[in-house]
Order: sequence, then structure tokens, then C-alpha cells
Amino acid sequence: MSSKDNTMSLGEFDLIHQYFSQGFPNRPDVKLGIGDDGAVCQIPSGMQLVVSVDTLVEGKHFPVNTSAQNIGYKSLAVNLSDMAAMGAVPSWMTLALSLPNPTHAWLTDFRQGLLELAEDMQVSLIGGDTTASEKYITITLQIMGFVPLNSAIQRKGAMIGDKIYVTGTLGDAGLGLASLQNWVELAPSAKKFVEKRLNRPIPRVKEGQALRNVATSMIDISDGLLSDLSHITEANALGATLHLSQLPLSNVLQENLPRETAWNLALSAGDDYELCFTIPPSKESLLINLLPPQSYTVIGTIEASQGIRCLYPNGKLSTPTRRGYEHFKYSVK
Ligand code: ADP
Ligand code: MG
Repeated sequence: MSSKDNTMSLGEFDLIHQYFSQGFPNRPDVKLGIGDDGAVCQIPSGMQLVVSVDTLVEGKHFPVNTSAQNIGYKSLAVNLSDMAAMGAVPSWMTLALSLPNPTHAWLTDFRQGLLELAEDMQVSLIGGDTTASEKYITITLQIMGFVPLNSAIQRKGAMIGDKIYVTGTLGDAGLGLASLQNWVELAPSAKKFVEKRLNRPIPRVKEGQALRNVATSMIDISDGLLSDLSHITEANALGATLHLSQLPLSNVLQENLPRETAWNLALSAGDDYELCFTIPPSKESLLINLLPPQSYTVIGTIEASQGIRCLYPNGKLSTPTRRGYEHFKYSVK
């Protein structure tokens, strides 16, 4: 990006130098970082490299008026969530930025949000690319991390009879989006809580690692529980039954929505970035030593019969479709 590509007086190299080549965590396994044609990094012996990349497009993955700080934070959070879902320890990232109109204010705030989480997780920024875009902000962040040899947790691996668990609570980010877009009206503290869950998800990196020798399969919930759990069931040619009364719902969700609507959000709304994993009954007793008991909830069972069924407290079984969330959007206005 040259200075004539945008309204900012900074050239591409100044921009990189000022905002990205310094101040991020230094790690001894980065032998050559930003500034050359490629980075050189050392994978610890006995470890395998896990790589993942996600692109966030303005207006599609975050609302157009999202603060730069939240965008910076979330670009890394969604990628860390993928590392968590593999049971990996994150280590390095690259960042490709495509910006229509970069200003110092935007870059300062974006960097701050990114740095906050990078420091927390000790992730080094080892390179990237900077270009001008016509219209929308587009951020592609690639993350790398390690797992001990052959111990990555995959989607494939769940077995009949395994219990299905999730971390945290579900549906809060969906209510956050509904609140931001004025589909629901919430008290200030509830609004703050759900919008924070949307903009500042906490990737469950420690939890993911802790489950390495216990979970038979795992995925992070980015598109909604039904959608993401179906990736697990389909990868294993199996199915599942979920107990609606066991879905973990925050107090804010329970207090502000009718029960059915809350379940609908918990099942179908995206952006929670919690983990969904399966544990064989023989290993369930190990969980207590691995994770704080309030950090996870059992919600169902893996079964031979394909598809995902939901069990109502009255014993009724239904096979939901993913349309639940769409329906919610137009029904609460
Ligand atoms: P090249 O012409 O070899 O692609 P660039 O001029 O694009 O190199 O980038 C120069 C250096 O700055 C490289 O080390 C690259 O990885 C790094 N870099 C470019 N943009 C970013 C960014 N947005 N974040 C982090 N590093 C970046
Ligand atoms: Mg380049």
C-alpha cells in the first residue's frame, strides 16, 4: 500500500513499523520475525504444528460500526478458538490487513485490541501483508500452535455412548447481536454483558489443552451448536440427542427471553466461541481433575442414529433445523 492508496500519510513500511513490528510478545522460538521475506520459527521437538486461518470481513463477520479495538481483539480470538478446539498451544500469528481508509486512530485501537489478547496468550506476530481495499475492512489472521505428537483433538473420534459437553453458556453472543441491532431491548447491565460476549469472546484455550487425553472429538462453536455439533456427528457418521433443559444458559438469557427463544438462541446463534466436545463414559470421572466444575455442562449423548434430536423436558423429541435463529430475528422485533 503506498501513500497514494489511502488518505493516511503513512506509507506501507511506516505503517508496519509503527503498528506491527514492535511490542508484540517475543518468543525464543521465533528466530526471524517481521522485516524479511519470511519468518523463521523453531517447532519444539516432539511437537506437531497446528495451523488455522480465518478471515473477518466488515459487514459480514462484524457490524460496520464495530470499534477497531473489538475488531483487533476478535480477529485473534476466533483463531485462538480454533487452536483451543484442536487442543493446541498457540504460538505465532501472521496478519493480512486490507484496509479502505486506515487512520492512525483506527490502527492504534486495532493494535491495542490485538495486543491485549496476544499478550495474554503469549502469541508472537511474525509477519503479514498490508494492502489497500476498495470498500470493506478485511482481516485475515493465521494462527499457529503446537500439540504433542499425535494428540490433536479432531472432529472425528466420537463414539456411540459418548457424552456431549459444552464449555460456558450458549446464546449470549446471539442475544448481543440482537441487542446491537435493536431487535430486543435490555437493561443496561444485561446489554453490556451480552454485547461483551459478542465482541470479546474468551477463547477456551486452557480448557482445550486440558481435554487432550480425554475428549474423543472437539469443535469450537462459531456457527451455532446445532451446526457445529453436526460437523462432529457427520464426521463420525453418527447422531446425537440433546437435552434442552440441560443447555447452559446465562442468567441474562434466562431473565430476558421466553424459554423456547432462549433454547433457540443457544442451539442456533453463532459467535459464542465455546467448545463442544465428547467424552466416553469411562473417562467422565477424570473431568473433575481437569476443569473447574462450573466451566462445563453435559448436554447430550452421541448415538448411532444419524441427525440431531432435541429432547424437551416433557419427553417430546424434535428434530430442529438450523432456521431457528433466522426465525428468532424476525419474531422478537
Ligand atoms: P514482501 O514484499 O516480501 O511481501 P512486505 O513489504 O509485504 O514484504 O512486508 C514487509 C515485512 O512486514 C514482512 O516481514 C511482512 O511479513 C511484514 N508485514 C507486512 N504487513 C504486516 C502486517 N499487517 N502485520 C505484520 N507484519 C506485516
Ligand atoms: Mg507483502
